[in-house]
Amino acid sequence: MVKAQDAVQLTRELVRMNTVNPPGREEPCARHLGARLEAAGFQVKYHSFGERRVSLIATIGSSDSKLPLCFTGHMDTVPLGAAPWRVDPFAGETSAGMLYGRGTSDMKCGVAAFTIAALSMAKHLASTCGVNLVITAGEETGCEGAFRLYRDGVLGKAGALVVAEPTSNYPFVGHKGALWLKARTRGFTAHGSMPEKGVNAVYKAAHVVSRLEQFSFPNAPHALMGQATLNVGTFHGGHNINSVPDQAEIGVDIRTVPTVDHKTLIAVLAAQLGADVELETLMDLEAVYTEPWNPWIQSVFDVMAPILGEAPVPRVATYFTDAAALNRAYSDSPTVILGPGEPQMAHQTDEYCVLERVEKSVAAYQEIMRRWCFT
Ligand SMILES: [Zn+2]
Repeated sequence: MVKAQDAVQLTRELVRMNTVNPPGREEPCARHLGARLEAAGFQVKYHSFGERRVSLIATIGSSDSKLPLCFTGHMDTVPLGAAPWRVDPFAGETSAGMLYGRGTSDMKCGVAAFTIAALSMAKHLASTCGVNLVITAGEETGCEGAFRLYRDGVLGKAGALVVAEPTSNYPFVGHKGALWLKARTRGFTAHGSMPEKGVNAVYKAAHVVSRLEQFSFPNAPHALMGQATLNVGTFHGGHNINSVPDQAEIGVDIRTVPTVDHKTLIAVLAAQLGADVELETLMDLEAVYTEPWNPWIQSVFDVMAPILGEAPVPRVATYFTDAAALNRAYSDSPTVILGPGEPQMAHQTDEYCVLERVEKSVAAYQEIMRRWCFT
């Protein structure tokens, strides 16, 4: 018999496997989860994209009456950071109702919770439309594992998506997208004592930065997410003080909302910045959003209301998730971000998750599976 408390134990086992990214090394985590799922009747496939970089997809269900329900989570974690930890980040110690360690909240407890929920229901799920568990490597460095699964065409189909990122069990209906661009200007170098003989790429870049600061988005704001934002994060130009710089680069971080079409936005930017500026896309993740009135979202809200002690209201997460990659394969199926981790603990020193919340999320995921697969 699989019990809700097993999710805490499974979280502990996953935390003891160091998956700090870089370098990642998610393979032991993937094999550990895969072995348990396979033993319970899931079909498990491993997909690697680098040395010990392994994602897994586990599926169960035999009826094609309806598309399966997908749960997703990532196994990698961010580094420990510069500040010293009070606890061993890879021991999985528990104290006062909390489980400590790197990746507890973001998001090994979420992966453990949906894995335990799926294991506990495996026998009943086998004859239904079933569930897919997409457990990724390499999320923290720009969803590279999930994009690899998408590009390899191995994600299959899903009718709805639960992203188990940390939300303290509050269901979020979406998150902003991210469009990271590199803007490059070029000039012509000359000796610093004769600048009139050169063309200064940094002067050109300075004009670009001013225009970026003044940029106003052409799209209407989104009802829940507001307007997109733009930030110049980096500025580099020139090699030595006594030369005219022949190249400068600007790093631009745009966080988009569902009313922004990325292709159109890039075209608008290119036109405003002029032909002298080269634009390169470093990362391109569309916003994720499902209308709160969607019947499945409403049913998830109903499942969560008694657990939260209040009826959820439509809210969105601040971070982006693998859903941006998965939804390309799943044709933007309804998506909820819902996980037992503590969002304020993500990427923090002395990260922890709350045991009670993990156990409650197992019950919630079981009910969400029941409602999808048994009706
Ligand atoms: Zn995460």
